[in-house]
Amino acid sequence: MIYADYNATTPLDPEVRAAMDEALGATFGNPSSMHQAGQAARRLVDRARSQVATFIHAAADEIVFTSGGTEADNLAVLGAAAAAPTGRKGIVASAVEHKAVLDACAAWQAQGNPVTLVGADRDGRVDTAALEAAVTEDVALVSVMLANNDIGTLEPIAEVAAIAKARGADVHTDAVQAAGKVPIDVKALGVALLSFSSHKIHGPKGAGALFVRNGVRLAPLVHGGRQERTLRPGTENVPAIVGFGKACELAGKRLDADARRVAELRDHFEKKILASISGTRVNGGAQRLPNTSNIAFAGLDGEAIVINLDMMGLAASTGAACSSADKTPSHVLLAMGQSPAEARSSVRFSFGRENTDEEIDRAALLVAQAVTLLRQVREVQS
Ligand code: PLP
Repeated sequence: MIYADYNATTPLDPEVRAAMDEALGATFGNPSSMHQAGQAARRLVDRARSQVATFIHAAADEIVFTSGGTEADNLAVLGAAAAAPTGRKGIVASAVEHKAVLDACAAWQAQGNPVTLVGADRDGRVDTAALEAAVTEDVALVSVMLANNDIGTLEPIAEVAAIAKARGADVHTDAVQAAGKVPIDVKALGVALLSFSSHKIHGPKGAGALFVRNGVRLAPLVHGGRQERTLRPGTENVPAIVGFGKACELAGKRLDADARRVAELRDHFEKKILASISGTRVNGGAQRLPNTSNIAFAGLDGEAIVINLDMMGLAASTGAACSSADKTPSHVLLAMGQSPAEARSSVRFSFGRENTDEEIDRAALLVAQAVTLLRQVREVQS
């Protein structure tokens, strides 16, 4: 099988697996225990915290470990809004956010609080003029992702942060897809909160982190203990945290080389597809993640293409794995102004470290075959 769904998840790096071995075996203690077994586990968590912090240019005490990107997004959005003073309970987010942010915003709105979603242009970039108008004095938090999971579009976060700062609001950015693909520097971005996830950067599933800039007020969503400075109580998932730390260290070292190589593969793939298949168009603009290629195949159903490709040995997707069970087209493509039919015709290919040149050539060939077959079927049926 050729795997071209790295935005859904990534394979575990062998070095990450090796690092996790210790925490899965000999160092099994509870990091909150005072005895030596506990303190050995504590040291592993502390090391991982430093690795994770270094990766995004943060301080170790600005990292809160969570169970993944979804929890980090929920903690950021609901935690910041809950901690905000009375009269400043509003949230502004982009309409192209991941469901982890959008559904957290919906939950906040259902409690009677103001939430505004701001649209995006044809490339999926947030409308900063509309955002500026939406960030009024009653807004506590602005949440705009660093890179979009469906189309890879990079959002102008530094600009968003400047707008929010002028109104006294904090900014959260969902960097789950950006991590490991573009450099992340929380200071340069000017954000108060940033979430990312282990399994998107060749770490284990079930670990993630929220960067909480020193001094930013946040209310916990879970109650029960003093772990993670009470912001995320519960005994730490030490093996997953250790793996996440190692994955961050490796991603930091490999970022430039990985991004360059994967961009070459992606560009080669797109060139082949656009040249060999009629009625194709790339979704998202030039400012994109290096690994993501979201392609519209005019007149076809993206889901049918994905199913056929799977049978042919190529794993791709129609968009976010967590939304692919429902039949509605990508909310991201709809927010970019596409019609439901247009949005439904798209397939997301996302490449990664393990893909080879041969795989890319073969993937392009398989896509051409699948599309030809489906177009023939459509002709026979019409
Ligand atoms: N945010 C974005 C942009 C994502 O792409 C994803 C996962 O696809 C998430 C959040 C959720 O992360 P996790 O799978 O770690 O819960």
